[in-house]
Amino acid sequence: MTQRKTNEELVALAVEASRNAVAPHSNFHVGAALEAANGTIYTGCNVESDSYGLTICAERVALTKALSEGERKFTRIAVFGEELGGAGRFGSASNVLGPCGACRQLMLEHCGDIEVIGATSGGEVGQVWQLTELLPDAFLSRNRETGE
Ligand code: ZN
Repeated sequence: MTQRKTNEELVALAVEASRNAVAPHSNFHVGAALEAANGTIYTGCNVESDSYGLTICAERVALTKALSEGERKFTRIAVFGEELGGAGRFGSASNVLGPCGACRQLMLEHCGDIEVIGATSGGEVGQVWQLTELLPDAFLSRNRETGE
């Protein structure tokens, strides 16, 4: 049985994943590490498009990787972002990154009320939320608790 990772270790994996970011437009390199209930970690980075609108976030890359591997139960996700070049558009080194609205919606649909670990751009654990705190009264097609 694999040892459950600490929040710090999960953030470290998100930081590592951010190194693969494809972010020529924003220079904002984001990484995510999504933990499945069985302990498997799926990582993702942001992938930008020249069209801008087709850009996909690190959280959704990690989520779609996991879902496509058949994973359906999740516990936590860590999110880290770092702006290279220091234009300062995404705040200071102590800023905590949370997922965007689109990611919150998709994660709630497919992961339920997981823990979201927002890292500082210095790579430390910044804040831990429940996903329903970040997306209260969410739009869902059915009640995820009762299956109705
Ligand atoms: Zn997002």
